[in-house]
Amino acid sequence: MSAGAQPAANDAAFRQFICRACGYVYDEAKGDPDGGLPPGTRYDDIPDDWACPLCGVTKAEFEPYVASTVQRAAAPVAVTGRGRHEPGVVIVGGGRAGWQVAQALRERDAALPITLVAACSADVYDKPTLSVAIARGLDPHRIVRESAAEAAKRLRLQLVPEAIAVRIDTVARTLRTTRGTLRWRKLVLAHGAAPRLPAALPPQQVWRVNDLAAYRRLRDVLATRPQRVVIVGAGLVGSELANDLALGGHAVTLLDVQPRPLAALLPAPASQRLLAAWAALPIAFVGGAQVAGVETRADGTRRVALADGRTWDADQVIAATGLAAPDRLARSAGLAFDRGCGGIVVEPATLRTAHPDIHALGDCVAVGGQASRFIEPIARQAQAIAGAICGDDAAAAYVPKAVPLRVKTTSLPITLQGSIAGEGDWRIVADTPRELRMQRVDVDGTVIATLVASAPPAVLPRAA
Ligand code: FE
Repeated sequence: MSAGAQPAANDAAFRQFICRACGYVYDEAKGDPDGGLPPGTRYDDIPDDWACPLCGVTKAEFEPYVASTVQRAAAPVAVTGRGRHEPGVVIVGGGRAGWQVAQALRERDAALPITLVAACSADVYDKPTLSVAIARGLDPHRIVRESAAEAAKRLRLQLVPEAIAVRIDTVARTLRTTRGTLRWRKLVLAHGAAPRLPAALPPQQVWRVNDLAAYRRLRDVLATRPQRVVIVGAGLVGSELANDLALGGHAVTLLDVQPRPLAALLPAPASQRLLAAWAALPIAFVGGAQVAGVETRADGTRRVALADGRTWDADQVIAATGLAAPDRLARSAGLAFDRGCGGIVVEPATLRTAHPDIHALGDCVAVGGQASRFIEPIARQAQAIAGAICGDDAAAAYVPKAVPLRVKTTSLPITLQGSIAGEGDWRIVADTPRELRMQRVDVDGTVIATLVASAPPAVLPRAA
């Protein structure tokens, strides 16, 4: 460790603090350089408007963290009485939402039979770190926080990994999977959402980075040498990836039908500021770009064609065109599905679907006509479902709440709060070389959203 990283005249041991909403651990020794906190920044010195890098809540949601107490939460206990004949709860999905429900159920009921079915390996990791991890060249094994087998043992549940849930039978109360049929008393859908691919982007021609397995493959391909990468879609994921791949030395072309990046989230001055911050990086943003098709050429490279006839040649093409929950399971059970935002319709307080014994949470649900594909709600949704399943409805009703959204474009980190939209009456509050502050007001002049775009802290870019 270099002498420069040491805090001045303060030799108390560094402490750690855990985010109650998402489990992110803030380590004073490491700080949060992307969030403007250099290594050695004490918790007490963190500004109140700092946002959790994973889920966006503020400092007030953090509490002191001692690793051992959390890890040893559930010592193995023999399941007695129930179990053999009681089908219990079946959870579909091995991501954060699935594991959080399992954890919340186990905390309430030591003997409840729980089965977790996952299409993947179900290792426990933080998905928002994927886009950033590529730029860091992080080893995929470092992203995994706990193996699926360890988590299953800790929570004493039956794990069925690498199994695709195919069909729900609500009369027989069974779930058919590619690894056999399971009985359930309560079913929880936590299978997330999948990239929405327009017809012009055939799946065999483009990358989608929505899970750890895809990240591993893309990382292996990008690790060989700097490459020409075309990213289709300049929303949150596309813009963060563009930023990070460019920092990682790749030449990025970022395409979007909108005239500016993050057009659905940011007012125009903030998009312009982001483009200015990117001027020093190998990112070419191309607006008004309607992709007509992608083809593989004789030399193995790809050619992206736009509807207006323009083309780009690339080594890799990444689709970042948004998400929708797969609707097959919901349809098989006759559950209401919101086609607009691509989610299973649930009742907000209990996350109950149209079937009284089937709940859903996380990226696959629609609450009040809106998908919330963020981390912060998941733990609270899991508590609400566990409460409802264990007969404790009122205690843990889920209430959607507005949480700051942190755009992790490290060249210009942006924090948004409130009623976020690219359009609307946005006003500039401060505009200095260091910072752009804006407010969105409604017809009465009430502030309904705020935006802060700050020049990045002095962190040297990697790999010039
Ligand atoms: Fe958090």
